[in-house]
Amino acid sequence: MPSQNVICKTCGNNFSGLYCNACGQKVIKRFTGAYLLDGLKQEVFEVDTGLWHTYSDMWTRPGEMVRDYINGATQKYYSPLKYMILWTALYLIALELILPKNASNLFSQETLANFVFNSNRPYSKEAVSDFTSFWYRLASQNTNYYFFGLIPFISLTGLLVYKKSNVNLTEHIILNTYFCGHFASVTIPIALLSTHTESFSELSQSIFSTLLLFVPYFYLFLNMQKGFFREKWSSTILSGLLCIVGGTGIFILLLFVTFNTLKGF
Ligand SMILES: [Zn+2]
Repeated sequence: MPSQNVICKTCGNNFSGLYCNACGQKVIKRFTGAYLLDGLKQEVFEVDTGLWHTYSDMWTRPGEMVRDYINGATQKYYSPLKYMILWTALYLIALELILPKNASNLFSQETLANFVFNSNRPYSKEAVSDFTSFWYRLASQNTNYYFFGLIPFISLTGLLVYKKSNVNLTEHIILNTYFCGHFASVTIPIALLSTHTESFSELSQSIFSTLLLFVPYFYLFLNMQKGFFREKWSSTILSGLLCIVGGTGIFILLLFVTFNTLKGF
């Protein structure tokens, strides 16, 4: 490590070492091939600071990893927002490739005209059935929006359920953002599997895709909660389900009210 002082080329700070202690700028003597390779490795794949590390930890010790991140070891891991954006983007790309024909857009004119802006009165029996179809489409075909929308609600219920654990709302959001990103990575193979069910009846098709989606969803979520809150399975199952059911309930209720308000126009 060079011991002489250097003036930072980025912020002008006087320091010694390989990195500026004020802005984090690395000392660069000359750009070389090795430097470019290193930069590619670091900036594109972030091999050192963690995409792979984060991904494998999200399988093996998700709760402990997020706790480690929240306790300040942020350099070791891929950031939660980037993790979620990366997997959501890959999921959307995969979906485009897998489902070129029946990819339906929830916000298309046709869907909106069919379910939202039809002649059914708000809060009527027909409106409830319109909403059910709309919600089913959201959860099954626009899974990413659905789970993305759930983050603030599950975080809120988590805050209430785990009141005693001294975890704040932002920390709950970080926890659930990691989860959402990781779950997006899991939904890629699930989406692939779901396309091979054409021979099934409609009912078994929806049961199959629901199980395929919700079994890993509950398992991954509860496993993460268990490690994060350092609980026994019995209490995790209870509190974790309360978070999901409560959060999902508030989310659906809000969607339902918004849906009917839009219908009223
Ligand atoms: Zn600097």
